[in-house]
Amino acid sequence: MANNDGTRGFGRRQFLGGASALAFSGWSNASLFAQPQRTVADLVLVNGKIHTMDPANRVVSQALIQSGRFTAVSNTVSIPRGVRRIDLKGRTVIPGIIDAHNHIVLVGNRPGWHTPLEHVFTIPETIAALKARSTEVPAGEFITTVGPVSAMQFMERRLPTLTELDAVNRPVYIQAAQGGTRTNSQGKAWLEARGVMVAADGAITGPALTAALLALRKELLTPETRKRSALDALKYYAKLGITTHRDCGAFHSEALSGGLANENTYTMHNPFMALHRDGTMPARLRIDFLHQDSPAANPPLPTLSVRLKNSFPFFGDEWIKTGGIGEFTGGGVEGLRAIAKAGWRGEDHALNLAGVTNLVKDRETVNAEIPLSGLRWIISHVPEFPVDLANRMNVMGMGVLLGWGPLRTGANVGPPYRMLMGHPIKKGYHSDGGDITVINPWLNFSTIVSGKNLAGQQILGDQTLTRQEVLWLATAANKWFIEEDDLGSIEIGNRGDLVVLDRDCFAVPDEDLKRTRSLLTVVGGKIVHDEIG
Ligand SMILES: [Zn+2]
Repeated sequence: MANNDGTRGFGRRQFLGGASALAFSGWSNASLFAQPQRTVADLVLVNGKIHTMDPANRVVSQALIQSGRFTAVSNTVSIPRGVRRIDLKGRTVIPGIIDAHNHIVLVGNRPGWHTPLEHVFTIPETIAALKARSTEVPAGEFITTVGPVSAMQFMERRLPTLTELDAVNRPVYIQAAQGGTRTNSQGKAWLEARGVMVAADGAITGPALTAALLALRKELLTPETRKRSALDALKYYAKLGITTHRDCGAFHSEALSGGLANENTYTMHNPFMALHRDGTMPARLRIDFLHQDSPAANPPLPTLSVRLKNSFPFFGDEWIKTGGIGEFTGGGVEGLRAIAKAGWRGEDHALNLAGVTNLVKDRETVNAEIPLSGLRWIISHVPEFPVDLANRMNVMGMGVLLGWGPLRTGANVGPPYRMLMGHPIKKGYHSDGGDITVINPWLNFSTIVSGKNLAGQQILGDQTLTRQEVLWLATAANKWFIEEDDLGSIEIGNRGDLVVLDRDCFAVPDEDLKRTRSLLTVVGGKIVHDEIG
């Protein structure tokens, strides 16, 4: 299949089809997927506070990784000769964070020199970060931040103005999940030359906003810039401790679109596939397929039925692997029925109590015909969620993903973390970030622990969790949601994914939790981020 964006090499279907053909001709998948990522040096970490998140919640001081997997985890590891030794000097270590539902693929396809800004909390810090970025960006080229950033994260509770952004000697374009869109004088001139109206303070609103993003996409996106954005995004979140992303899709747009959540869902994975071919993936990617067929479509399920016939669920290797259908299944109950019949996983998201109640009812209808138990179906970002619905989902063997909180407002907006921690239903952590909210896990953890959004307003009432519980949700608990038992905990035999933190996230004051980042991130024994040296 020719790629719509003109990229050279495999499209998604060729990639999967090629793998299948090779498997039939007697080649193993291992040889097809042999990548430089696999050639990693063995290493041992000593003198750490290593929170294993194993079933006994052990905290140990040493961990040995050989050939990409943990081979010893204890206080008394006998260290083989020739292994690289890293002295942690008492630092805190956690398993690699699994974000079990986000939109990293959208973030990896942003136009311009995309620059995530989820680690800065004041306007001056933001300007400093953009100035630092400008040293890597050729004169006249756009620095962009599109999606996972918000006015609420800044002490000033607003985005930078045109005048403030003029301190950066490049065109700058910031389009926030919440809080509007801003550009500077260089950006304003570029956009106005293309008929996009920008206010004197750099704000872009209404139809001009769609036109602005469309113009940036039309003129700045190439296969190479997409690949650069994909790599930058994965690296950025590896610095924040995420080693596995489960991507939950985009709204399909065949042509380039001005919508923040829109992409071509048949080609948007290409930049990530390109990184995989180069052997430069700095984190793992799990891919779900979002479908939105109308229940009234005739013939029924025009896109979903083709997907279920022609794609492979849970196929790939340790770096990139497909999953199920979501975060929209499309097609109403008929769509759910088709997914269940095919034996795939299905996921939908909920925005309110009425919505989640309907989702549970529809699943009960299908479950009465085709038992869903064992397929690990998911409902994500449940808001209000009474125990009755938790009971009914649990009976069907389903799980709920929790998170999506730092930008929300109001009292007791949910989810009811405390109730769910005491409930037998499967639960895990997700940010849902990329277009409507942030991805930085520490912003989410901070909210779940303190109950406060990024503006400091109490939104969770008495439903907060302990740090141990939050970290467990984002690591070991997420094994169930990605259906991989050898990730999410530091245990012998598991893949060597871990994060050495810059602070003790179990002890720092609530206010400091959101500034947590990684000093050393290891994925399958490969060091993907290193400030320890
Ligand atoms: Zn989502």
